[in-house]
Amino acid sequence: MKAQDFRYERPSTMDEALAILADTDQEAQPLAGGQSLMPMMNFRLAAPDVLVDLGGVPELSGICEDNGEIVIGAMTRYRDLMASEMVARDVPLLAAALPHIAHPAIRNRGTLGGSLALSDPAAESPAVLLALGGSVDLRSASGQRSVAADEFFFGLYETARQPEELITAVRLPKAAPGHRFGFYEITRRHGDYAMIGVAVAQAPDWRIAFFSVAGTPLRATDAEAVLNADASDIDAAVAALASLEIDGDRHGDPAMKRHLAGVALRRAIGGMS
Ligand SMILES: Cc1cc2nc3c(=O)[nH]c(=O)nc-3n(C[C@H](O)[C@H](O)[C@H](O)COP(=O)(O)OP(=O)(O)OC[C@H]3O[C@@H](n4cnc5c(N)ncnc54)[C@H](O)[C@@H]3O)c2cc1C
Repeated sequence: MKAQDFRYERPSTMDEALAILADTDQEAQPLAGGQSLMPMMNFRLAAPDVLVDLGGVPELSGICEDNGEIVIGAMTRYRDLMASEMVARDVPLLAAALPHIAHPAIRNRGTLGGSLALSDPAAESPAVLLALGGSVDLRSASGQRSVAADEFFFGLYETARQPEELITAVRLPKAAPGHRFGFYEITRRHGDYAMIGVAVAQAPDWRIAFFSVAGTPLRATDAEAVLNADASDIDAAVAALASLEIDGDRHGDPAMKRHLAGVALRRAIGGMS
């Protein structure tokens, strides 16, 4: 199948892009790396009237430090994140997750902002954002706001972003000495979406975010409480996953996925550095 007819726009500034999204007469959708949106359009799961290609807006790309946070432009591609010394040094949890995201061809085009806007429940970056307690900068023609990771993910492919808003940047706290991070995912083949995965931060409080367990990435707050009381009690942290509301999917029923969650958590903590 081919995509339904659409108008293609390639603005060169953010204001131009926001003006097109603000026009409520037509449904406009931003195009980032196109790695998910183009297949969705070809399958007619998405049928925007106007496609707003963000590739011509330079202010949406780049990585910088601002007030103790690493700020990543929404259009920054995975390839550039993997090549960044700042990401490797200051956001090691993101650096650990990146090689697990799809394959090089997809990472050459796919963007961090696109992944967070899509909010696939099996994607790595939403869980990394949640484990780090970062935030998402949003802008529309009428204003801007920042939404904390804990308030960003609503449901299956649903986020706090409104249709007229662009994700402009992602803010992740810079790692400090003594902070530790771990990442582990279980897949049938490297590069596939995970059957289950977990991102863990001890910075200095514990934050644990699972992905591919439910409609959104999920924090394991009971397990976090166990580890905040005694960081060596990993058995109790795994037992505390009993309270996590895990859905079954094509990979397994909730009981099997809960078992895998425990395996992933032990391995993520075992590999923390
Ligand atoms: C074969 C295959 C395997 C994959 N495996 C994985 C995997 O293992 N893990 C993983 O995480 N991902 C995986 N992906 C998805 C890939 O990581 C994509 O990069 C990601 O889903 C979307 O990023 P994108 O930049 O391509 O966004 P697009 O496809 O361009 O857009 C996705 C959605 O986000 C919206 N959007 C994009 N940018 C913005 C913005 N700045 N503001 C507001 N809305 C925006 C678009 O309108 C669209 O609705 C895979 C994709 C393929 C094709």
